[in-house]
Amino acid sequence: MAGKAEPGGGRLPLLDGWTGRNGGICVLRCREAAPRRPPVASAAVSTCAITGGAGFLGSHLCEHLLKRGHRVICVDNLETGSLQNIEHIRDDGFEFRHIDITERVEIPDQVDFVYHLASPASPIDYLRLPLHTLKVGSHGTHHMLGVAKFKRARFLLASTSEVYGDPQVHPQTEDYWGHVNPIGPRGVYDEAKRYAEAMTMAYHRQQGVDTSIVRIFNTYGPRMRAKDGRAVPTFLRQALQDQPLTVFGEGSQTRSFCYVDDLVRGIVALAESDAHMPVNLGNPDEFTLLELAKTVIDVTESRSEIVYEPLPVDDPQQRQPDISRARDLLGWQPEVDLREGLRRTIEQAGIERLAGASD
Ligand code: NAD
Repeated sequence: MAGKAEPGGGRLPLLDGWTGRNGGICVLRCREAAPRRPPVASAAVSTCAITGGAGFLGSHLCEHLLKRGHRVICVDNLETGSLQNIEHIRDDGFEFRHIDITERVEIPDQVDFVYHLASPASPIDYLRLPLHTLKVGSHGTHHMLGVAKFKRARFLLASTSEVYGDPQVHPQTEDYWGHVNPIGPRGVYDEAKRYAEAMTMAYHRQQGVDTSIVRIFNTYGPRMRAKDGRAVPTFLRQALQDQPLTVFGEGSQTRSFCYVDDLVRGIVALAESDAHMPVNLGNPDEFTLLELAKTVIDVTESRSEIVYEPLPVDDPQQRQPDISRARDLLGWQPEVDLREGLRRTIEQAGIERLAGASD
């Protein structure tokens, strides 16, 4: 039987007699022949295409995979990412390709893993780029699933806790379907990701593509842009400039904050597992926005005060991941607490960048 090369040197069976036309037969066959990739040994070398690789999370993922000895093709159109995030990478196994994935995507190389992270991610970005956000979640995801199918690569979709909207279930488990306003300003991001998840599952069920979905909860760390509007970099910038920290509403809305190294470790564990259903990754420690602001002031030893501004439309009141599935399937849990993560962010990013001087 024909097979595809596995990073570990083995062969995975192809779907026998697959034509891709008859949906009914296909579902049956895919279920029978669903790819069962054994966990990849960390020493195995594979080629990973990372969309959004020049962004905040993507650049950390590039580094992590290179450190593990993999080859990385970083695909990005630099819409919200930057060459500054990857310019320090000196590795023969690394390559940057300037590609807009909403257009046709061609990657001539053999690819074993597609990590699909490209998408505006901060509210400032997706409110500025509503149509692009919808296109990258739909056309972009379609194109990258096509690449994964053609290359017979394992595919990982970077989805988000925003698929739960303003949740009525707390903490959020993966089987909760969410509470999203599709026509509110945030809907472009939430619905793009929900559509991307639906398309990913359709490619898995109908086309037999070996897919995985990570639902990422708020993650922070070095290389976040000081002015991207997300809570941690905003508070750090304001605190480091001794400016007032702007908290929305009364600051009683809760979030959980995961340090980037923990998240990247979880993403790779998921990609190298054989899980297909969505997996939450995030830090289950829950803080109010007011507590976060006070912690940032404390860690930075800032003289800043806290001021209150009106809540944005459809701002979720609570966010906390239930990470039981990640614990069970991947043996994963975060190791870095908020104070330690903030200290590492300041140390690695440097005060100048966090204060927005180099933006
Ligand atoms: P980011 O904005 O830093 O990175 C996104 C990257 O995608 C950028 O480099 C951008 O240039 C690239 N990109 C956008 N459109 C593109 C296109 N059409 N073609 C090619 N590249 C394109 O954001 P991030 O925080 O690193 O987020 C990465 C992914 O993780 C996103 O999919 C986001 O939805 C998801 N996510 C992030 C968080 C978080 O807390 N950081 C939380 C949930 C989900």
